Amino acid sequence: METEIGINKTTKKIPKKNVNRGIWKTFLNLCLKANLPVLGIVVFCTISMVSSKIYLLVPSKTGELFAGNVSAQLVTMIILYSILTSTLGQITGFVEQVVNAKIDRNFRNVLWKKTLQLPMSFFDKIPANSMISRITSDTENLRTFIMKVVISEFVGLYTMYITLKQISLYNKALVYILLGLIPVVVILAIVLGRITLKIQIRVRDEISNLTRFLSELIMSVPVIKSFNKENYESQRGNDAIEGLYKANKLQLYLNLAKNPIGTIVEIGKQVTLILVGIQFINKGILNAATWYAFYQFATRILNDVNAKQGVWEQIKATQGSLFRVAKVLEEPEEGFLPYKEEIVETGDIVFENVTFAYEDNSILENVSFRIPYNKTTAIVGPSGVGKTTALKLIERFYAPSKGRITKGEVDIQEFNLKNWRSQVSYVTQDIPMMSGTIKENILYGVKREVTDEELKQAAEVANAHEFIMKQPEGYDTQVGQFGSRLSGGQRQRITIARALLSKPSILILDEPTSNLDAEATAEVMKGINNLKINRTAIVVAHDEQAILDADHIIVFNLDGSISSGTHMELLATNSFYRSMMGGEISA
Ligand code: ADP
Repeated sequence: METEIGINKTTKKIPKKNVNRGIWKTFLNLCLKANLPVLGIVVFCTISMVSSKIYLLVPSKTGELFAGNVSAQLVTMIILYSILTSTLGQITGFVEQVVNAKIDRNFRNVLWKKTLQLPMSFFDKIPANSMISRITSDTENLRTFIMKVVISEFVGLYTMYITLKQISLYNKALVYILLGLIPVVVILAIVLGRITLKIQIRVRDEISNLTRFLSELIMSVPVIKSFNKENYESQRGNDAIEGLYKANKLQLYLNLAKNPIGTIVEIGKQVTLILVGIQFINKGILNAATWYAFYQFATRILNDVNAKQGVWEQIKATQGSLFRVAKVLEEPEEGFLPYKEEIVETGDIVFENVTFAYEDNSILENVSFRIPYNKTTAIVGPSGVGKTTALKLIERFYAPSKGRITKGEVDIQEFNLKNWRSQVSYVTQDIPMMSGTIKENILYGVKREVTDEELKQAAEVANAHEFIMKQPEGYDTQVGQFGSRLSGGQRQRITIARALLSKPSILILDEPTSNLDAEATAEVMKGINNLKINRTAIVVAHDEQAILDADHIIVFNLDGSISSGTHMELLATNSFYRSMMGGEISA
């Protein structure tokens, strides 16, 4: 089970065996699939390289100016070069932003598309907020790797090469001195970088901790209030906030220490370069103009090297993000078997020796039963015994690990998944709506043109039309997030109207009225009874009337065995059924 929250743990340690060539290959595949804006990247590289080349001329010319050549031509040239360099810098910045936005969009599209193709078992393993951060922040990390590491390093190496080449024109020894200074700067950068990184990770972890805490708790405000736990949760929140405060304080102290250290390093660099310069001027190798240019070039190279401390950090962050993104991309999609387009519409649904477990939590063990075609079958049994799981297997949210489920003798896994699901309507206790209007919700997933008249008819049969017309804007009323502006019974009746329009051949009703009061149940049942007509209906119910209304009853017994028959047969043969009907239910 994956427990990490993902959002801010990009640099957290990853199991070594996972950071292998495999994920980089996945990265390459992702780049190919994402159709990277190659033209934009080439333009960015070209302008950056031209810019570097032009910049190279500025220190040389400025050096001449400092050496006393104040001709109008030189001054004009310097001004023009400066304007050109800064204009190109702005253009490069703009192109980079556009390329960044395009890469982000393309990565996110690939990941989102893939997410919707994943089997339900995947979502059991990955928490929702981790999935969100994969699509939002992890994709940004991958893009930063492309632009700030791969592309920028390429341009950076080119710039360093042409700068060193320019310096070698003054004197080759200067290049060697500079190359000797680079490792010193690198070591200092690494040491400071590592300390900074550690503190940054701590800050990120604390932010992640606080985000997780708040996202969980804000959803649970009604529970907190009804159990009078405000003080307790307030204290827990304080702890999370305090943790972040302490980490931020640590970062402040580090920054305080880093400034003088940075200044000392900077002064050291300058003194060294000045001393080198004096030596070379004394020997007559450099004059005032070339000395100034050398100083500018050397400072630029050393600053660029110093900035490399972020590259290692970025590579680590990329590995973390890539590990999480690869988990999504490498997961097999659902419905990938070779399939039959045509669904067998007639015929019973039969569970043949089906075994199923969630991970290692075994739920169904070698169970067999038959759901007759075009009849209503009730499934009853104690809570937690696997009734809903059996329905999810029919919906193909999961697949049996052993045995098979058939429809008209054909294994349902063989049918095209989309076609199969369009035959099945699933009405459960609490179906959240999508935000939008009532009309949009009724039509959600209905793949054909529906006239307003047909919509109204479906709503009438679902016993929903009347309440919809009482809403401020009728069918165009917004339902709110997750349908929060409607009652449970109203949401259920909208779901029934939707199911009516989808015309499924199989109707699954998983305790659809268990969250409703008697009045709302009666309203919903009117709709459900209309919906059950002329299709295979499977009802999980504890309600005695719903069981008695069924043509066929299947009992999931506590010991994992299955019994089936009519009401009278089961009363005569099944003690659990007898006690259930005579005890809990009729009581
Ligand atoms: P019933 O409908 O008979 O009440 P369910 O099929 O909902 O039972 O659940 C059977 C068992 O499977 C329960 O113990 C439940 O905790 C477990 N379970 C249900 N869904 C999942 C899941 N997505 N991941 C892991 N375990 C699950």
